[in-house]
Amino acid sequence: MNNMTCDDFALECLQADGRLSETAREHLQSCPDCQALARLNSILMHPRPSPELDRQTLQMARLLLHQPRRRWWREINHYFYAAAAVLLILVGISAFSLPPAGEKSPDLLVQNGEIGSDTHDLLILSYLETTNEMDNIEQQLYLYAGN
Ligand SMILES: [Zn+2]
Repeated sequence: MNNMTCDDFALECLQADGRLSETAREHLQSCPDCQALARLNSILMHPRPSPELDRQTLQMARLLLHQPRRRWWREINHYFYAAAAVLLILVGISAFSLPPAGEKSPDLLVQNGEIGSDTHDLLILSYLETTNEMDNIEQQLYLYAGN
């Protein structure tokens, strides 16, 4: 006689991993409920390859492979260009905020106390002369360009 209960078999079936004792095998042959349990356990313990699962996994892997990856040197490039842009803006601001060195008028030089009032008059004269000369040169260039 086999005095193994279904609970005993279930416990042994889950713990034994396929290697059943003689009493358990006898109970299995006579009990349809435990046969179903053994089948289910065998499916769970030894999963068969699933083509559908394989297809989905491959599809996901392909998507990941073709996704554009952000590389570290591209990240650095972004920072480099941002820093260069900031630098250019700063240079531009400082260039515009400073008066151009070559175009200081004599009045401004006197105001700043850089020269005395005697030289001021001379400078005014030379400034006007220079301006006239520049106008002449400009006129000549204009004539050359016209011909
Ligand atoms: Zn049973």
